Amino acid sequence: MSTQGLRAPLIAMIVAAAGVAPAFAESALVRTPAEFTSALARVQPGDTLTLADGEWRDFQAVFTGVGAAGRPITLTAQTPGKVILTGRSNLSMAGEHLVVSNLVFRDGFSPTGEVLSFRKSRTERANHSRVTGVVIDGFSKPDRAESDNWVALYGHHNRFDHNQLTGKTNAGTTLVVIRDPEQGLENRHAIDHNYFGRRAVLGSNGGETIRVGTSHASASSSFTTVENNWFEQCSGEVEIVSNKSGGNVYRGNVFFESQGALVLRHGDDNLVENNVFIGNGLPNTGGVRVINRRNTIRNNYMEGLAGSNFGSALTIMYGVPNSPLHRYVQVDGAVIENNSFIDVREMSFGAGMDAERSAAPVNSRFVGNLIVNRDGRDPVRAQGDMSGVTFLRNIQSPKATQSGVLGRKVTLARGPGELLLPKGLKGFGVGADMTFVGREQTGVSWYPKKKAVVALDSGAVHAAAPGEDTLTRAIAQAAAGDRIMLQPGVYIVNQIVSLNRAVTVQGPVKGRAEIQFSRPSLFEIGGGAALRLSRVTISGALAPDVAGAAVLRAGQGAAGYQLIVEDSAFEDLTVNRSFNVFAAGPGSLADRIRLERVTVDKATGSVIAAHTETADLGAYNAEVVEVIDSTFRDVTGPVLDLYRGGTDESTFGPRLILTGSTFERSGRADDGAFKLYGVQRAQIRGNRFVDSGAPNFFRRVGDPVFIWSGNRLEGTPDLITNVKPLEVAP
Ligand code: CA
Repeated sequence: MSTQGLRAPLIAMIVAAAGVAPAFAESALVRTPAEFTSALARVQPGDTLTLADGEWRDFQAVFTGVGAAGRPITLTAQTPGKVILTGRSNLSMAGEHLVVSNLVFRDGFSPTGEVLSFRKSRTERANHSRVTGVVIDGFSKPDRAESDNWVALYGHHNRFDHNQLTGKTNAGTTLVVIRDPEQGLENRHAIDHNYFGRRAVLGSNGGETIRVGTSHASASSSFTTVENNWFEQCSGEVEIVSNKSGGNVYRGNVFFESQGALVLRHGDDNLVENNVFIGNGLPNTGGVRVINRRNTIRNNYMEGLAGSNFGSALTIMYGVPNSPLHRYVQVDGAVIENNSFIDVREMSFGAGMDAERSAAPVNSRFVGNLIVNRDGRDPVRAQGDMSGVTFLRNIQSPKATQSGVLGRKVTLARGPGELLLPKGLKGFGVGADMTFVGREQTGVSWYPKKKAVVALDSGAVHAAAPGEDTLTRAIAQAAAGDRIMLQPGVYIVNQIVSLNRAVTVQGPVKGRAEIQFSRPSLFEIGGGAALRLSRVTISGALAPDVAGAAVLRAGQGAAGYQLIVEDSAFEDLTVNRSFNVFAAGPGSLADRIRLERVTVDKATGSVIAAHTETADLGAYNAEVVEVIDSTFRDVTGPVLDLYRGGTDESTFGPRLILTGSTFERSGRADDGAFKLYGVQRAQIRGNRFVDSGAPNFFRRVGDPVFIWSGNRLEGTPDLITNVKPLEVAP
């Protein structure tokens, strides 16, 4: 079958339109949405519609038809990689035996709740259909909080393979299987050889890369297979994969540097085998979390996973007695055998045990597993009653504490596929032994797998001279990665400078570069942008008297941005009654905010105000905040104001490091020197509080780590907290 449109050019199709569809109409090259619709009206089984190379802007394609087994109706590109759907585009399909291939979605987003949908309406869906070789690259709604599913599989017997999905930044699953009791719950879909690329931390529930089903229909089986896919840096939330139905298979997938875990959240009789999890020691990288009945986890390989608790290399949960569908069904009949756990931080048996989750695992087996930690630490953490789990023939190196686990020193060597295999244990039947899918075997060959993120200071260096709007112009001309070097002098900026890329503004080594600004903000940082300020002094003297002004602010819904300020000073932020150094916009989420050797003198607001996520759904405004060797004088405060409300357990942040800093006469109002509410990890060491308000740390949910060590309080009330901080050596 031709995909070039040579045998039946469009003109022939139009001529034929009035009569009976000609038998020779096998392939049509279409150049506009109207031509597409008109050609589609006449397709027969075995025909191909070919979209002409070029940009298809604002194209909401509806692809319907009834093909036949072995004679599908195909929608494809004239040249793979050269048909680009941009703007407000999407594709929905309905019918039988349809194939979509080789399209690219980028530079836009879907105006509806799905980019690629296996249904046209609630009653018309696609079955026995296939999507292959489709790329969806950064096709995210601009507001992080606005949800959509990139791919929604409806119907049954559909295949989604060799596609490449990368760079989702807004809420909603990357790929979801939506099940329908009316049309049948046995989906029997195949999801294979796809490349799921970077998904940044969403900072709320709804950041799953794959979800199969929902809790209400989870007592039935979907029989969906997720096989030979590559998940690279899929870090949206605690569930990389959220399995919510029965009878599914997860086989031969690679999870590379992905935060979260494959979670058997709801449903029974699922099989997880031959998967590889590589964490490279990155925070929150996990393996498999087990809940429900008769789930089998065998022959998986986990290496360098640094996750703990619900995101451990292996998590066996406590359940709720007679659990409602949406809670946690007791683990019953789990088989966990022949897995390798190499240099993992934690294996959590009995996780989540509390007053509600009081049912220990029963009838379960942990057999023939290999646990090796080359640094000698013991990753096994068991809580509650583990008598319902039979431990047999496992080996742990260098030593074991659990019965049914033999302790002995095991040496490892890299085997095929770079997996670490034990030496001299042949015949013991322990650990994983497998082949797995290569990265180049997933996705497509004609489109790069990684979107090039332009790093700070990777580009050209430009000089800017003092004056009015000289800095504004220099930034407007800077490309991503560029650095603007300021000469000594005063720079006046008369507009809010919007940043959508990585830019550094750096002052001189000798002399002072001072920036003043006449609008309520100097910089507004957009999604994916990065701003580094170095060796500058920023004065609020010219700013207007507007409440809630901020020198630096994140735009509404901006996600995945970075702000780094070093060796710099902020002065005279006093013209109005709440003048912040930095303020997070509603729905925004920073990857990282870092202040190092920063001095703030006189501010009527906060230094970091990140508390706009007040819906209490576990969302927050900053994943990582670092404040190092900085000084805050006469800041009304709270100097740091971080908020994460609600009891949702889908997220890992915020995380805070505050060290070597001094607070003087700051935070003397109600909220104190700093107010940390719902922060999941705080390391506060070696700071000095002088004549300031009390530091405040409130636990909201989970098991936060709060290290409070070597801090000096002079003329300052004691720490106010509802947890017992870990006191560790300074
Ligand atoms: Ca979730």
